Amino acid sequence: MRQLIAGNWKMHMLRAPAVELARGVREGAQGVACDLLVCPPFTAIEPVASALAGSGVAVGGQDCHAKGQGAHTGDVAAVMLRDAGATWVIIGHSERRQNHGETDELVREKVLAAVDAGLTPIVCVGETEDQRAAGQETEVVGWQISGSLPKPFSGVVAYEPVWAIGTGRTATGQDVAIMHAFVRDELVRQFGEAGHDIRILYGGSMRPANAGSLLAVPHVGGGLIGGASLKAEDFLAIARAAKPA
Ligand code: PEP
Repeated sequence: MRQLIAGNWKMHMLRAPAVELARGVREGAQGVACDLLVCPPFTAIEPVASALAGSGVAVGGQDCHAKGQGAHTGDVAAVMLRDAGATWVIIGHSERRQNHGETDELVREKVLAAVDAGLTPIVCVGETEDQRAAGQETEVVGWQISGSLPKPFSGVVAYEPVWAIGTGRTATGQDVAIMHAFVRDELVRQFGEAGHDIRILYGGSMRPANAGSLLAVPHVGGGLIGGASLKAEDFLAIARAAKPA
């Protein structure tokens, strides 16, 4: 399976610079050996999707509501993302879990809503620094997987150690190898044979300089990139470091 390099633009980019960034990604996207996805903020999804139409670079949202419509001021339904041109959505990012109190149960409901709307979900899991210091990383991630993923699950999992997100600290190749092997085993334990085919992304301060070694670790099916996805040249350099299928 091809690796997936996904950019999470978070709460950055007005529409004009978002389109410029999307065009930069589009220009360099031909010939890369991986699938590409960018996830702009809600307001930029439509113009970015138009700028990327026909390029093979997919567009996603960064969150969605668990319901299809209703009295939910300020929220966005999965079907609205789809309507704006998204085909993917990130769900349960640690910034949503921490800043908006999202639980595994809510994440699971959002995943169901996303799939219902025709979106492919990327479900984020990962331990905090304190949990790792207490030796609880596998326990925490195992619980997040069983609580956040509906059965059956058609989507992608992103292992993102919270302490490595936006900090410039990257998990070592050995940490990543241990955690990705653990996530794979959990997926197979919980989903049977289908668990072998679920892509597992690594996320946490991936940059052009460390992408090659991180993307070469067994069971790493790509990367979820925050900071380094805001410059087309960095994002594309990471994409060029992807392992051919
Ligand atoms: C992320 O937000 O998912 C992420 C991995 O961010 P960064 O690459 O900036 O650590």
